[in-house]
Amino acid sequence: MRHVDEYRDAGKARALAASIASLCEPGREYTFMEVCGGHTHTIYKHGIEDYLPDNVTLVHGPGCPVCVIPMGRVDDAIHIARRPDVILATFGDMMRVPGGHGSFFDAKAAGADVRMVYSPLDALRIAERNPGRRVVFMAIGFETTAPSTAMTVLRARAAGLDNFSVFANHVTIIPAIKAILDSPDLRLDGFLGPGHVSAVIGCRPYEFIARDHRKPIVVAGFEPLDILRSVHMLLVQLREGRCEVENQYGRVVPWDGNAKALQAINETMELRPYFEWRGLGFISHSALRVRDGYAAHDAERIFDVPGVRVADPKACQCGEVLKGVLKPWECKVFGTACTPETPIGTCMVSSEGACAAYYNFGRFTRDRVREATR
Ligand code: SF4
Repeated sequence: MRHVDEYRDAGKARALAASIASLCEPGREYTFMEVCGGHTHTIYKHGIEDYLPDNVTLVHGPGCPVCVIPMGRVDDAIHIARRPDVILATFGDMMRVPGGHGSFFDAKAAGADVRMVYSPLDALRIAERNPGRRVVFMAIGFETTAPSTAMTVLRARAAGLDNFSVFANHVTIIPAIKAILDSPDLRLDGFLGPGHVSAVIGCRPYEFIARDHRKPIVVAGFEPLDILRSVHMLLVQLREGRCEVENQYGRVVPWDGNAKALQAINETMELRPYFEWRGLGFISHSALRVRDGYAAHDAERIFDVPGVRVADPKACQCGEVLKGVLKPWECKVFGTACTPETPIGTCMVSSEGACAAYYNFGRFTRDRVREATR
């Protein structure tokens, strides 16, 4: 298949659905985690769950980069943004993420110079045009976006733009998957592996999941047939008693990853001893910081960062949603106090957040959807 429409063919989806149903053993329940928020978005946008038998359940994982940012990091960034000499640049998704004392939008309304950008290079251009100001890029995301931050730091160094720095919040996917596998809250039968992250890190880092935890994992693409095909591959593995890493997204994901991207990350960034994830708590070696050699571009060393820690609001159940323990509609404030316009938790902000995906596509419960489509 070469064109996107071919990955959305309803006839092929129905044929795959029938084959998936035939692979399920009667009376057995299957629970698979889609690690990536992009998969969650596809699943609810295209109604993939309606193609699956009742005994196959997809639960959402921690792979939405905006969703895992703890409130304290937002407050730290706003603390920097309030300085009169600073321009803080961030992705649009981050603007409404609530910190303990408001969001970037609130800080902007109160006079801070916060600007939305589409890439770290946009932030670098702002630094070029404003030599008298200090431009801080709020860097978020998994290994998918870390290479673009790394390349921008290298460019800033090459261009001598010392007024450009990065407030690094890049996280890494493997420790989060390990934390979920070690959690007693959830019993999983397998994983849909994150396609975009894997385009950078490749498939080998997942081998421990199959080897040590005896769970199959299929790195999956983002179109409806990619997801159905990946579920099918997981079920074939279980049927045959195999636990392996397989790559359904071979048209994008090289088995060994992207060496150039990994090299750029390794040159400019290193693992932090620990980092706080929203809802998951502190996870060791799960995030990146700027290396000593690039300290001139590290906002955490340039500015006085308070290191704020903020407990999530009592009503917020993002942690359970990010661990796949709760479905979004099971959160007490879903769709009432917490909506995309008035988010309490991060999962309602980003388009990759499970709560936003459920809310935007009206899929409040699986039963309700089924009844509506009968
Ligand atoms: S509904 Fe809001 S508070 Fe509840 S889990 Fe989702 S984002 Fe968090």
